[in-house]
Amino acid sequence: MTAAHHHAGSGVTPKLSPNQTKILGCLREAGEPMSAYAILDRVRKSGIAHPPTVYRALNDLMKKGMVHRLESRSAFIACGHGACDGRFAFAICRACDKVVEIPLGKKEQARLLGLAPAEITPEQVTLEIAGLCEACRPAQAAPA
Ligand SMILES: [Zn+2]
Ligand SMILES: [Zn+2]
Repeated sequence: MTAAHHHAGSGVTPKLSPNQTKILGCLREAGEPMSAYAILDRVRKSGIAHPPTVYRALNDLMKKGMVHRLESRSAFIACGHGACDGRFAFAICRACDKVVEIPLGKKEQARLLGLAPAEITPEQVTLEIAGLCEACRPAQAAPA
C-alpha cells in the first residue's frame, strides 16, 4: 500500500484540499477579481457555506502563490501564471476591470521596497497601475 498512487510528473501543482480546489477553480473560471462574498455565492452550491471556510482556503492559496489579492478592491484573483513567487504588479482597466499580472524582477521589487523611509522597515510592496485596456479605449474616446 506504499506504492505511489498519484500521477507522477505533475509536481508543478501543489496538493490542494477540496475546498481550495473549488475556490481556485471558481477564480480561474471567472478570470477576473472577485470579492470573498462573490466567491462564497459561487461555491455555495458545491457545499461551502461559511465565509471563514472561504477565507481560510484563500489564505492557503495565497501562500502557495496561486491566488493574489488586489488590495485596491479587496478582491482576489487567480495568479495569471498558475502560481508565482509573489513578486508581481497589476495593471487594471478602470472601465471593465480587466486585470493583467506583471511579473516583477528581484531588482525591481528591491528598488520599490527601497523607497520606504527610514522610519518604516519595508516588508511588502503592492503596485497596481490603473488605465484603459485596448477594448475600452476607443469606446471611451469616441462615444457612439
Ligand atoms: Zn502570480
Ligand atoms: Zn477595459
